[in-house]
Amino acid sequence: MTQSETLFENAQQYIPGGVNSPVRAFKGVGGTPIFIKTAKGAYLYDEDDNRYIDFIGSWGPMILGHRDQRVIDALHAQIDVGVGYGAPTAIETAMAKKICELVPSIDLVRMVNSGTEATMSTIRLARGYTGRDKIVKFEGCYHGHVDSLLVKAGSGALTLGVPNSPGIPASLAEHTLTVPFNDIESVRRVFAEMGDEIAAVIVEPVAGNMNCIPPVPGFLEGLRNVCDQHGSVLIFDEVMTGFRVSLGGAQERFGVTPDLTALGKVIGGGLPVGAFGGKRDIMSHISPLGPVYQAGTLSGNPLAMRAGLTTLEAISEPGFHDRLTEKTNTVRDGFKRAANAAGVPLVVQSAGAMFGFFFTDQNQVNSFEDVMRCDAERFGRFFNGMLKEGVYLAPSAFEAGFTSAAMSDEDIEHTLTAARKVMETL
Ligand code: PMP
Repeated sequence: MTQSETLFENAQQYIPGGVNSPVRAFKGVGGTPIFIKTAKGAYLYDEDDNRYIDFIGSWGPMILGHRDQRVIDALHAQIDVGVGYGAPTAIETAMAKKICELVPSIDLVRMVNSGTEATMSTIRLARGYTGRDKIVKFEGCYHGHVDSLLVKAGSGALTLGVPNSPGIPASLAEHTLTVPFNDIESVRRVFAEMGDEIAAVIVEPVAGNMNCIPPVPGFLEGLRNVCDQHGSVLIFDEVMTGFRVSLGGAQERFGVTPDLTALGKVIGGGLPVGAFGGKRDIMSHISPLGPVYQAGTLSGNPLAMRAGLTTLEAISEPGFHDRLTEKTNTVRDGFKRAANAAGVPLVVQSAGAMFGFFFTDQNQVNSFEDVMRCDAERFGRFFNGMLKEGVYLAPSAFEAGFTSAAMSDEDIEHTLTAARKVMETL
């Protein structure tokens, strides 16, 4: 037995399923999860001393790679003066100012501890602000495990086949209206019927929890128009896309301005952080300015702020996203060429520094329905083949892949050589 297998057995005695987040259990791809001992730059090292090129990056945050020296130094400096106070600190304002500068639609921003908290708070705020209960979300979009949003969700909820979790009152779920991603006509129909009851539309501007699906032209613009017509709040969940699709997020890249934005992942530099922000008049309804309650014992934690701010400063260097996008495109196109050479039908898609690939003979994958027509079993074989070659991809056909600045040309060549080899075996 490998160390990872032994550790997984032990873990299952004390932790539900042996993991603290379901998708880590490798359920969708078979086998047992690898247990990580350490990480540096582009690499993860497991407890059996195998090395992997990491295309998950802690599910997005590690855009600089692991243990970037600037982040580590900032953390050490903070540890020396205190790890948390539960009182205001200057670093929180520096962080908020940086976010507001990078994402111009955000006038005011509140820090939280996870992406789930961020989206949950945007929904409560939108409901409190509009005095309406209903929200619109999209099939296959995942916004964390918020009750109202765990309806037809993606990510682990898809892999495990429980898009509607038990434990969510039907009386709450009925306020969540679900429509197909990239289908603006369906959105218009829902609004025509009950537009004056809809508090908000929440969307991943590039869907990253049913693999990687960019918006079709006009989709995000259409959402903006519909929300404006009906006085509903447009929420972009940029927990994944923020600071990754481009420095200013998907909203910058696609030129559509939401009212509220949920953030996470990259802004924590690997520590547990989320944030939500947006237009001043809406954000002014949050306590203590306004009546919509939201709080957090550890929110704005100075360690998390240091790691996050240092990361945001590093990725603000000119050309950072162009270089990372180029790397991502090389991986994306290399996978496609490897598949073509092996006669395996494959669709590849990407946006900035996130990418996806689908084992399917469709021309494009634009919706949850399209995703469900892909060959998940073949994905599992590809995943396990790549793992053996030292390449750690997301262990699910429903997750986007992430590149990091730490990946060298050699790492990418290693990855593509592995892809060519594994494609031949499919
Ligand atoms: N929104 C999106 C788009 C996400 O991808 C995720 C997590 N993958 C979340 C929200 C939830 O974030 P967290 O896991 O930090 O609660």
